[in-house]
Amino acid sequence: MPDSTHTFKQLENFVQKNYTNPDLDLLRRANQTAVAAHEGKTRLTGEPFINHPIAVAYRLAEMGLHLNVVVAGLLHDVVEDSEYEIEDVRIEFGDDIASLVDSVTKLKRNVNYRGVERYAENLRKMFLAMASDVRVVFMKFADRLHNLQTLYGQPKHKQERIARESLEIYAPIAGRLGMSEIKGELEDYAFAYLQPKEYERMKSIMDIKDSDDLDKIYDLIAVRIVVNNVEDCYAALGVLHQKWRPVPGRIKDYIAQPKPNGYQSLHTTMFTSEGEVVEFQIRTQEMHELSEYGVAAHWRYKEGSGQQERNMRWMEELAQIQKELASKKDFLEQLEYMKIDVFNDRIFVFTPQGDVIDLPEGATPIDFAYAIHSKVGDKCVAARINDVMRNLDTKLTSGDIIEIVTDKNRKAPNPDWLKFARTRHARKKIRDATRNTVKGWFVGVLHGREKGGK
Ligand code: MN
Repeated sequence: MPDSTHTFKQLENFVQKNYTNPDLDLLRRANQTAVAAHEGKTRLTGEPFINHPIAVAYRLAEMGLHLNVVVAGLLHDVVEDSEYEIEDVRIEFGDDIASLVDSVTKLKRNVNYRGVERYAENLRKMFLAMASDVRVVFMKFADRLHNLQTLYGQPKHKQERIARESLEIYAPIAGRLGMSEIKGELEDYAFAYLQPKEYERMKSIMDIKDSDDLDKIYDLIAVRIVVNNVEDCYAALGVLHQKWRPVPGRIKDYIAQPKPNGYQSLHTTMFTSEGEVVEFQIRTQEMHELSEYGVAAHWRYKEGSGQQERNMRWMEELAQIQKELASKKDFLEQLEYMKIDVFNDRIFVFTPQGDVIDLPEGATPIDFAYAIHSKVGDKCVAARINDVMRNLDTKLTSGDIIEIVTDKNRKAPNPDWLKFARTRHARKKIRDATRNTVKGWFVGVLHGREKGGK
């Protein structure tokens, strides 16, 4: 596994080399803040904590993301880990960086692991919630990758949980976003912890030169050829096939038929003259970038375009991925996951247990209460939003944690709630409950009359 330790100096050099007119002062200030915030803290590996945010920032810089994201990477654990408040970040580093740090902090705080099914659902929704700013997703991946690289410092049960989450949740999401490089890395790290025996076996196969079990090493030696254009891809394939013997059934044309996530390349597996089995992947530079960085490919080093515009592009990309997934019959699962199709007017809020509830924009605690259970709605008397008591007509925002205070003596919902209940579900329940009371009264009267008539 690669050495994950970088110094701030290395980060600074990397940024200076690869970014156009980077604000190095900003980067240095962020580093000072992070150093101060994490001072004296060590990770379970024994390293100083500051190595972690530097590694995350370095990774984000390697991905070529906007410098604000790199800076936010340096600061991403500051609020979680010290007296430093998000407001301090805002004052010192501005709205954009503060909002990135805030989103990553919330993402961590809100998503609890409670069985992989539930967790996966929560996390998927969370990622969709974060779709309003895809940069947060990249930060989350960079954070997770470094945590995996340093997983050996964690106790065994935590190693397994983190590895499993990475394999079952993060990696598929990276895959769906077309970020195959990151997906592969997540899988490799996780694999070593979840299947130590298999992992060792794979490693030993890789060490053996002449294996009689060639099937198993098909994907182990791979050569990637990057050429200028599509014609050259096919030409290169022809040249290779003239030189060596292709393994039947192992030629794949993902250029003519891209994978659902947009991946394109020509694949072929061949016996070389040395008797080795080698897989070749042939692609253009553009296909290569897309395969390594997925949707992030379009973001790399594209400074200058406004946040608004970037978000729009991201939305379009996601909509595109969604469309492609929807067109594949065997991707029912993805279809399910992409069902929440109107990100723009949805918000995602949380129960104190970390479950995600998605609601339309403008929704209030009443909608939330009814989304939990109609009994919770009917008996609702107050709401605590992010630990503060709020009116029931308060508009909720994404990331809020809401606790509903109920009174078991409450008989029925207040019809006035209809003035600010936004979801059809809540409105219907309020109307039903109010109507039931009225109906009950009529039934009583009729009953009385019947009785009297007899
Ligand atoms: Mn972190």
